Amino acid sequence: MPKNKLIYLDHASTTPVRDEVLQAMRPFFSLHYGNPASLHTEGRIAQKALTDSRKKISDITGSQPDAIIFTSSGTESDNLAIFGATGALRDRGRHIISVGIEHHAVIEPLKQLETQGWSVTYISPDKTGLIDPEKIFSAITPQTVLITVMYANNEVGTILPIAEIGKRLLQYRKARNSELPYFHTDACQAAGYLDLSVEKLHVDLMTLNSGKIYGPKGVGMLYVRRGVKIQAQQFGGGQERGLRAGTENIPGIVGFAAALELAQKEKIKETARLTKLTDYFWKQLKKLVPEASLNGPLVGEDRLPNNLSITFPGMNGEQLLIYLDNEGVMCSTASACAAISDEPSHVLCALQISAQDIRSTLRFSLGRSTTKQDIDYTIQAIRKIKKLLPSR
Ligand SMILES: *Cc1c(COP(=O)(O)O)cnc(C)c1O
Repeated sequence: MPKNKLIYLDHASTTPVRDEVLQAMRPFFSLHYGNPASLHTEGRIAQKALTDSRKKISDITGSQPDAIIFTSSGTESDNLAIFGATGALRDRGRHIISVGIEHHAVIEPLKQLETQGWSVTYISPDKTGLIDPEKIFSAITPQTVLITVMYANNEVGTILPIAEIGKRLLQYRKARNSELPYFHTDACQAAGYLDLSVEKLHVDLMTLNSGKIYGPKGVGMLYVRRGVKIQAQQFGGGQERGLRAGTENIPGIVGFAAALELAQKEKIKETARLTKLTDYFWKQLKKLVPEASLNGPLVGEDRLPNNLSITFPGMNGEQLLIYLDNEGVMCSTASACAAISDEPSHVLCALQISAQDIRSTLRFSLGRSTTKQDIDYTIQAIRKIKKLLPSR
């Protein structure tokens, strides 16, 4: 094994910026540095870059340019969707429906609202992270103003039935002649692999970010369907239709649009390639560690093509991660966010995995650069570590 080889299998945390994206961004740091609000030449160049990027993203999502609100991250977009919608609808009802496996960027705003008199129903998923849309519809009350369900899960890769929920919700609202409840989806993990057409998904609000799709970190957007009322959460110069004040991050936005365009163009081919690789990885691993179990749906089913969440019973996940890192293989424990707070992953808890097994779980998330050789190397590394690592 080459000693200095580094294998990055943590693409669900973040991805490297790809060359084409960096090239697209480069002129907007020190060559064209204008503020799009300025009337002079540099301002107009920046304004055009902003308009072109917005148009690219609205074409990809099948929406209108004025429906795209640029933000600083997926987290900000989720916050804007949840606080924005509930702020605008507070007099119409105080109930929200969500799912127990959402990202912290959704869970934490919901927790805040719960301290302010809102009630939240968390639908429990099945053992693979899937939800029965029926459960959502039976949870709706006349007080329900918002439903927020992620498109694909970041820990176990489950793809949730957003289009199906959206379609049924449309009928539900039509029958009651109401525009409520609004439907929001966090699509951060989906953008590299799944269809983002808001008309097919029937969503009112959709969160995307750039750092998960080979674009720069610190850029995101919220799709806000025309006619959907949300309250701004940040005030100032009135940028982004007054919904998100602050000078736009032009290089970041240009990079985000370029990254999203490439990701969506390549998604079918990349899905096929990565499904084959994850399938190979899992089969090889299962031969080496027969007691290992895969969390979430089977490879090739309702699962992101790049995700493998694996429990190694009896092994300490954190120790395994460090040994793997020593061998040049980078992966993650149950969730990077949960690792900071030292709590067991709420996602794996919701999938009814025991606290002990959660501590024995690693997430491998593959990406554009991952090859079969990388997987073979990783399997060899696990073989080596298995001999060294004491059972817990
Ligand atoms: C990464 C991620 C976020 C947060 O995005 P940031 O841009 O890092 O703030 C939100 N939701 C999901 C599903 C994610 O994977």
